[in-house]
Amino acid sequence: MNILLTGGTGYIGSHVAVVLSEMSHRVVLYDNLSNSVRTVADRIGEIVGKSCEFVRGDIRDTDFLQKALREYEIDAVVHLAGLKAVGESVDKPIEYYSNNVQGTISLLEAMKAEDVKRLVFSSSATVYGQPQYLPIDESHPTSATNPYGRSKLHIEEMLGDLAISDPDWHVACLRYFNPVGAHETALLGENPSGKPNNLVPFIAQVASGTRAVLSVFGDDYDTSDGTGLRDYIHVMDLAEGHALALQFLVDNAGWHAINLGTGQAYSVLEMIKSFEHVSGRKIAFEVMPRRSGDVAACYADAEKARNLLGWTATRTLENMCSSTWHFQQTVDKYTAQCPKQPECDKARR
Ligand code: NAD
Ligand code: UDP
Repeated sequence: MNILLTGGTGYIGSHVAVVLSEMSHRVVLYDNLSNSVRTVADRIGEIVGKSCEFVRGDIRDTDFLQKALREYEIDAVVHLAGLKAVGESVDKPIEYYSNNVQGTISLLEAMKAEDVKRLVFSSSATVYGQPQYLPIDESHPTSATNPYGRSKLHIEEMLGDLAISDPDWHVACLRYFNPVGAHETALLGENPSGKPNNLVPFIAQVASGTRAVLSVFGDDYDTSDGTGLRDYIHVMDLAEGHALALQFLVDNAGWHAINLGTGQAYSVLEMIKSFEHVSGRKIAFEVMPRRSGDVAACYADAEKARNLLGWTATRTLENMCSSTWHFQQTVDKYTAQCPKQPECDKARR
């Protein structure tokens, strides 16, 4: 298949690109580089042993997108482009609705015009809002507590309406739990610009000495050790889920929401311990008050993915932490060699 990956040079998109290219699909990356760099396409090419096609463009540019769909004879789209920081979405809601919701409408218009009706969408467990029961299956009620989550929910609902209106659409909304880890070559991974919002990149930066101390947000939750429980999933497992979802859509029309998680939850203290083990470094941390909006525990019921896609996560917590650590060390090495540090940081993202 010829597959367009919007957000293809981003953290998750780049790993999806590797998996799809290794399965002999033709992959075209489409990204405006607002949160990634062009050289990611070269690194994907280095891993898969052939060059990876890249188009610089914004998903809100419908005509340009349509041209790309036509030129590369695209059969299916994996739609990962979007903004993803919860806190930022509260401060900049219009940017989030513009990039995520308006961007998706533009993509759907272009796809419809070119009669490309297979779509895998990057959704999130955030659409479940405050968990009402655990583990969370796909029938769990949905809600949103911030503009980022609301943008994901709006998109999911829009895609559902589209599939009802026209039975030719084949749509999978993959609800990711907590993607972490990096490619085993350490050529791809997550290197956030500025202070990381998420736990694992923050731990990695403390291990490397980039940051002095990790704030643990709350140790008084009703969990085994009092810290928050999450379902961390290796980004390569997640990427393989996309490939299987695309395969599933070949024969299955309609709208499908599918969790991608391991079903296994780890606490913040367990994550710290595992990272200390793989890195051999001590992670300094201090317990701080709970982070506003956080839930005590969130983990998936991943049965639907197993039944529909034949997918299960196979990589361990140790794989997640060691690949993150390997990638962090590569970033540190590269940064140290680079005379112009800010540009260098950007280059490795
Ligand atoms: P990322 O920021 O690394 O990748 C997103 C990519 O989209 C970036 O390369 C960015 O330049 C591009 N982009 C943003 N707006 C664009 C636009 N208007 N036009 C074209 N390109 C645009 O993020 P990621 O972690 O790889 O996330 C990918 C998708 O998965 C996002 O939609 C995100 O909401 C979703 N998701 C991520 C997580 C996570 O923890 N990383 C969890 C759940 C869902
Ligand atoms: N967390 C933390 N310190 C940090 C970042 C996160 O203690 O600097 C905790 C957070 O409270 C949650 C868990 O780590 O219990 C995972 O947080 P993350 O932001 O990575 O994922 P999300 O909360 O979005 O699921």
